[in-house]
Amino acid sequence: MTFLVTGGAGFIGSAVVRRLVTQGRDVVVLDALTYAGHKSTLREVEGTKHLRFFEGDIGDTTLVTDLLNQHKITKIMHLAAESHVDRSISNPGVFIQTNLVGTASLLTAALGYFENLSSEQAAEFKFHHISTDEVFGDLGPTDPAFHEQTPYAPRSPYSASKAGSDFLVDAWHHTYGLPTVITNCSNNYGPYHFPEKLIPRTVIRALKGMDILVFGQGINVRDWLYVEDHAEALIQVAQQGRVGERYAIGGGEERTNNDVVQSICQTLDHLRPRPDGKSYQDQITYVTDRAGHDRRYAIAFDKIRAELGWQPKVTFAQGLKQTIQWYLDHEDWWQALWNEG
Ligand code: NAD
Repeated sequence: MTFLVTGGAGFIGSAVVRRLVTQGRDVVVLDALTYAGHKSTLREVEGTKHLRFFEGDIGDTTLVTDLLNQHKITKIMHLAAESHVDRSISNPGVFIQTNLVGTASLLTAALGYFENLSSEQAAEFKFHHISTDEVFGDLGPTDPAFHEQTPYAPRSPYSASKAGSDFLVDAWHHTYGLPTVITNCSNNYGPYHFPEKLIPRTVIRALKGMDILVFGQGINVRDWLYVEDHAEALIQVAQQGRVGERYAIGGGEERTNNDVVQSICQTLDHLRPRPDGKSYQDQITYVTDRAGHDRRYAIAFDKIRAELGWQPKVTFAQGLKQTIQWYLDHEDWWQALWNEG
């Protein structure tokens, strides 16, 4: 069994790759190394015989077809994407190009490869598309959590481009018979998270003595999942998920942005006290809200728990502390990517 992981140098993709390689699986990574992709995320497993890295674009059909054929790929795990909502608001075009056009191109290459497999190889083959809970839109405070049948209602250019890519994957399954599976996951956090995202950005700005920025009133709610738990769920779905199905994945850990930022400050107060003895909470500053900011996301992950026995192992309290400690211990990694002064 050989995996092709697109976006394998990004935050979640690299967690999947590190886990697969550590399990002794053969992995081919295809990553364009955009601003968000760095080979340093794979430094713990680089040089092992199980890992082959290729820099390239998912839209390069010739390259993708060559990789599929040369490495006899059995599972495609498609994580390559533009992933930052704020960037999608200021520059939506690249989100349409990568998430929609790029995914369509990858599906076309995958179908061409799949149609030439022997029946034995075809029975093993799967295209696993990794998506987000943001495609479901926005929940009110007491609405039930998103699940596999929740209608799509994306509201940002990011979530709309991901929703479109999910529909394309479904279309390639229903129209052409490509064996696909889709997962929709809630907010991830953990090591190697790019510094622009809420949790690492808060840690880094706190350590640098900068204002800690919180959108609006900080009351938006997200369901947080530790990235290693997500990586394990994805590997299980790629191998055992039922073709044509979708699985919702979440952490069962809803927190307001205020809760998250305050927990980070309290943890840092303990792990790395400020020289002046004051709390990092003094640095919290509220700024103009993100345009179209969704209020709440939550995920019911009963299906994957019932079918595959997966559930999160790391609580938000444990995972957040581990993550903050990781950023304290890996300043070399994030300093090289930090561009906010
Ligand atoms: P990321 O931005 O950290 O990584 C994306 C990776 O894709 C980078 O390594 C980048 O270089 C690569 N890439 C971008 N365009 C490419 C292209 N055209 N060809 C090849 N590679 C390209 O993203 P992430 O947070 O690791 O998210 C991975 C996937 O998981 C995305 O599809 C995202 O929508 C989804 N997702 C993310 C979260 C989250 O909380 N981060 C939650 C649910 C789902």
